[in-house]
Amino acid sequence: MLVYAVFGDPVEHSLSPAMQNAAFSALGLSSRYLAFRVKRERLRDAILGAEAMGFGGLNLTIPLKEEALKVVVPDENAAAMGAVNTVAFEAGEIRGYNTDGQGALMALEGAGVRVDGRRVLVIGAGGAAKAIARQLSLRGVELSIANRDRRRALDLAALVGGRGYGLEDLEKLVSESEVVVNATSVGMREGDPRLLDGRILREGQTVFDIVYNRETELLRDARQAGAKVLDGVMMLVYQGAFSIEIWTGRKAPVDVMEQAVREELRNR
Ligand code: NAP
Repeated sequence: MLVYAVFGDPVEHSLSPAMQNAAFSALGLSSRYLAFRVKRERLRDAILGAEAMGFGGLNLTIPLKEEALKVVVPDENAAAMGAVNTVAFEAGEIRGYNTDGQGALMALEGAGVRVDGRRVLVIGAGGAAKAIARQLSLRGVELSIANRDRRRALDLAALVGGRGYGLEDLEKLVSESEVVVNATSVGMREGDPRLLDGRILREGQTVFDIVYNRETELLRDARQAGAKVLDGVMMLVYQGAFSIEIWTGRKAPVDVMEQAVREELRNR
């Protein structure tokens, strides 16, 4: 039996064990996926320990994704992101990948949203926004990035290619965009203030909110405006599916993984 794990701090509320164990079962593998709280300063010990104990692979979450670069050999994407969310033990080498951006892109494409050549607005400039903006940029979208801290939006736009703005430009940017992605943490908590006046959203737009723990006000407003809406669950599922494919070389059962995540969310 191979053991896999997610390391984070905190990690108690991670949906990954439910999702990845469902995937392993559906694939007929007797692997087990666990969650371990690992402090940033002990990450090296924890990764080397997992390798020594013959773990199959790891996912990393907050606040360990950047720290991992000191331990693993990153692929081009993880190196460009400066962050690792998937670790694989490959023939004596500890390799690092970042599947967040590809997960977001698959979530859009899986829902039938074409992004190539379209005007896309990413709100946010944190870790998730960075991964998403890079993948979108690689797909040749006309990219705008708006962030509360405008400087970070400008830096990210310069890194991946695109234009950076502060949130004061948000309503104009939204009205000009075909796809709007919320990659901030706004909406995660009940009672969070709205990022924007939902009345500017419209039919024909796609609104993708990567928050996955609840239906956000942004998504409710977008639905009411007749826009196509996507929550963050499928991004979570696809980033995990890419991890499974890196570890096992098998195609991940995304439907089963989605079901496991939605069921886990319902039970919380
Ligand atoms: P992060 O690196 O801490 O970035 C947070 C972002 O949110 C920054 O752009 C920050 O702006 C912005 N923000 C925070 N509070 C704000 C407020 N009150 N008003 C406006 N902007 C605000 O976090 P992250 O890792 O990128 O995660 C962001 C969100 O994505 C979280 O909700 C997380 O759960 C979700 N996520 C989902 C998936 C998925 O698979 N669906 C994967 C990863 C993350 P400043 O730069 O100005 O501080």
